[in-house]
Amino acid sequence: MPEHRVVVVGAGIGGLCAALRLAGQGMDVTVVDAAERPGGKMRPLQVNGQPVDAGPTVFTMRWVLDELLDELGTSAEQALPPLQPLSVLARHAWRTDGSRLDLHADRTRSAEAIADFASPAEGRRYLAFCDEAQRVYHQLEGPHIRSGRPSFVQMVADLGPRGLATLAGLGPLATLSATLSRRFTDPRLQQLFGRYATYCGAAPGLAPATLMLVAHVEQAGVWAVQGGMAALAQSLAALLQQRGARCASARAAPRSSTPAAACTASGSTTASAWLRTPWSSMATSARSVRCWAARERRCRPQRQPAGARCRR
Ligand SMILES: Cc1cc2nc3c(=O)[nH]c(=O)nc-3n(C[C@H](O)[C@H](O)[C@H](O)COP(=O)(O)OP(=O)(O)OC[C@H]3O[C@@H](n4cnc5c(N)ncnc54)[C@H](O)[C@@H]3O)c2cc1C
Repeated sequence: MPEHRVVVVGAGIGGLCAALRLAGQGMDVTVVDAAERPGGKMRPLQVNGQPVDAGPTVFTMRWVLDELLDELGTSAEQALPPLQPLSVLARHAWRTDGSRLDLHADRTRSAEAIADFASPAEGRRYLAFCDEAQRVYHQLEGPHIRSGRPSFVQMVADLGPRGLATLAGLGPLATLSATLSRRFTDPRLQQLFGRYATYCGAAPGLAPATLMLVAHVEQAGVWAVQGGMAALAQSLAALLQQRGARCASARAAPRSSTPAAACTASGSTTASAWLRTPWSSMATSARSVRCWAARERRCRPQRQPAGARCRR
């Protein structure tokens, strides 16, 4: 019987990976999500009957999953859908003037494409931008990206004089859009690289300039996932289940439904929480969740915000 029981709230890539790591360490893990399927932003929309990725479309920072899968004694080849490295990172089109621009894994090719698209000077500025994004990435990789519990104070200590100088070079508290307007004169390029802010739901005018590091992340490798990004989420959820973790969708109950004696991540405004249909791909999760609910019976269901954890 595992010594530690953990509830992970959220089944986006972050929650799924955290849950896998904890399950791999022998903990008794339950993952709950307000959505009906795992994946968070990795979700398909049906367009003319075809699934189209609505959030992330390509897989980046593959090393994160490679390390995790290695820890779990498996690999991307065994556990994930087929991955294909892409030479075109992203294709952009502007409806206003009909212009198009591809960014390539090879930065020299991208610089040439930008020179044709905008001007040779913008092509050179792009190469300088890539160098800066790479510097920012390398300074932040240890102190922030790989840090298990990043804190501002610890990050400043770990950055050291060189790291602090790199960040200071961006300008104090600089936003992504302010930095981009200093780096590029063509508004389409400012707009294009400003999209990195949207990856975490921010606006370029509010997001920190350090998000430019996504340019470097993309150049380090972009993979297409067979079946789309949602297939990646499904395979991680399946792996979790193989490791004995339980996964479920948890939602507020309509008044007519039968309440379960459970305290769960729920937006319930009634006195009882209700575990709704579990993810369809997980045939056994309904039973698992009921077992979990029964074990958690000591938690009194009460009015609480969605995602509130069970406190004992
Ligand atoms: C438009 C767009 C394009 C992107 N493109 C790419 C790309 O091409 N490549 C790439 O690598 N990255 C891309 N990103 C970034 C990537 O999608 C995100 O970094 C990543 O999906 C975030 O994962 P997460 O687990 O942190 O959060 P999320 O995916 O947001 O997952 C959070 C989950 O928690 C659940 N949740 C939250 N609160 C509660 C609660 N209270 N109770 C229960 N459940 C709760 C939510 O339902 C959700 O399922 C893109 C992002 C966007 C928006």
